[in-house]
Amino acid sequence: MADKSFLDWPFLEDRHRKLAKRLDEWAGSKLGGVDHTDVDAACRRLVAMLGDEGWLNWTAVDPSDSGAKLDVRSLCIMRETLARHDGLADFAFAMQGLGTGAISLFGTAAQKRAWLAKTRAGKAVSAFALSEPKSGSDVANMDLAAIHDGESYVLDGEKTWISNGGIADIYTVFARTGEAPGAKGISAFLVPAETSGLTIAERLEVVAPHPLARISFDGCRVPAEAMIGKPGDGFRIAMSVLDVFRSTVAAAALGFARRALDESIERARTRELFGAPMFDLQMIQGHLADMALDVDAAALLVYRAAWLKDTGAARVSREAAMAKLYATDRAQDVIDKAVQIHGGDGVRKGHIVERLYREIRALRIYEGASDVQKVIIARQTLANASAGG
Ligand SMILES: Cc1cc2nc3c(=O)[nH]c(=O)nc-3n(C[C@H](O)[C@H](O)[C@H](O)COP(=O)(O)OP(=O)(O)OC[C@H]3O[C@@H](n4cnc5c(N)ncnc54)[C@H](O)[C@@H]3O)c2cc1C
Repeated sequence: MADKSFLDWPFLEDRHRKLAKRLDEWAGSKLGGVDHTDVDAACRRLVAMLGDEGWLNWTAVDPSDSGAKLDVRSLCIMRETLARHDGLADFAFAMQGLGTGAISLFGTAAQKRAWLAKTRAGKAVSAFALSEPKSGSDVANMDLAAIHDGESYVLDGEKTWISNGGIADIYTVFARTGEAPGAKGISAFLVPAETSGLTIAERLEVVAPHPLARISFDGCRVPAEAMIGKPGDGFRIAMSVLDVFRSTVAAAALGFARRALDESIERARTRELFGAPMFDLQMIQGHLADMALDVDAAALLVYRAAWLKDTGAARVSREAAMAKLYATDRAQDVIDKAVQIHGGDGVRKGHIVERLYREIRALRIYEGASDVQKVIIARQTLANASAGG
C-alpha cells in the first residue's frame, strides 16, 4: 500500500486528494487487464480508456471555456498515480498533454475547438515534435524548414525521437521560419498525421517500449492558420509547454520510485533470510530508509514546483528543473536498490522491478537531460543572486 501522507501537504487541496483516490481505485481495477504485447494497440486502447473515463480532461483546457487553465498539481498527481500502476498508461496520458500543450497555452479558439475536444475524449492521439537528429539538447539549432508560400507554409526536413510517432493523429511541429537566427526564428505548427508529405521514416525501439518514430517532412503543406502563436514564437512556446510538463515528468519518476519502494518493503517483510524476515537485516533497513527519504524529498520538489505554477508564477524553470533533476536521478537509484533487494527476481524479465529499471532510464534524457537541468538551475541561481545584490 503506497504512502499517501503527501496528499495532506499544504501544496494540495481537497479536490486533489479526491482525484488521487478516485484515479488510484480506477487504475487498480482497470489497468491490469490491458495487454502490452503490441505497444501501438496498447497505447491506443489506453488513450481510449482514459478518454472514456474522463481522465484526459485534465491534459488540455476545455475549448468551450476561454479562461480555462491547466492544473499542474492535478497533472502531477495523475502521472504519479498512473506511473505507480502502469508506465504505459502514464505515457499515454502524458502525451495527450504534451502533444496539445501548445494549443492549450497559445492556440486560437478555432484550433482549440478543432482538436482539444477530440484529444480530451481519447478520440485523437497527439504528439510533440521538437527534436531532430542534430538538435536534441541544442533545440535552437533545428533545421526543419517551414517556407511561407502564399496562404500556406511548406515543411521540409526531419524530426526524430517523436513519442506517439506512427500512431498520432495530430503533431505539434516546431520548424524554422527564419525571422531571426537561432531561437527567434522558429514557429510552431499543427500538422495532422494524414497531411501529404508527412511520413514515418523509421520506427525506433527503446528499452521500455512505446510508440516512437523518426518522421520525414517532404513538401508538407499546411495552411497559414495551422501556425500556433506568431511567426518566431515557436521556441518560447516550446519552452512554456516544457515549463508546465517538466514537473509532471518528475511526478512520473516519483510514481516509479514509490512503486519500487512499496515492492521492496513487501519483499523485505515476506522474504526469510538467515532464519528471520529480511527486514531484520540492518543494511536492508538502511536501503529502505534511503529510498523513503529520496521519495519524500522528490515529492516535496515536485509539488512545490506544481503549486508555484498553479498559484500564478509566470515561469517556474528553476523549480521544475530541480524537481525533474532530483526526482528522475533519485528514482533511478531507488529502483536500483529495489532490484538489489529482490535479488535474482529483480533482473528476471517481466518482474515489476525489472520493468521499472528499464522504464525510469529515458526520463533522465527527454524533456531536457539531467545535465541540461543543472545548467538551467545554475543560470537561474546566478540570475537570482545578481538580482538580489
Ligand atoms: C524515449 C524517448 C522519448 C522521446 N520523446 C520525444 C518527443 O516526444 N518529442 C521530442 O521532440 N523529443 C523526444 N525525445 C528526444 C529527447 O528530448 C532528446 O533525446 C534529448 O533532448 C537529448 O537529445 P539527444 O538525444 O540529441 O542527445 P544530445 O543532445 O546529443 O545530448 C547527449 C547528452 O549530452 C549531455 N548534454 C547535452 N547538453 C548539455 C549541456 N548543455 N551541458 C552538459 N551536458 C549536456 C547530456 O548528458 C545528454 O544526455 C525523446 C527521447 C527519448 C529517449
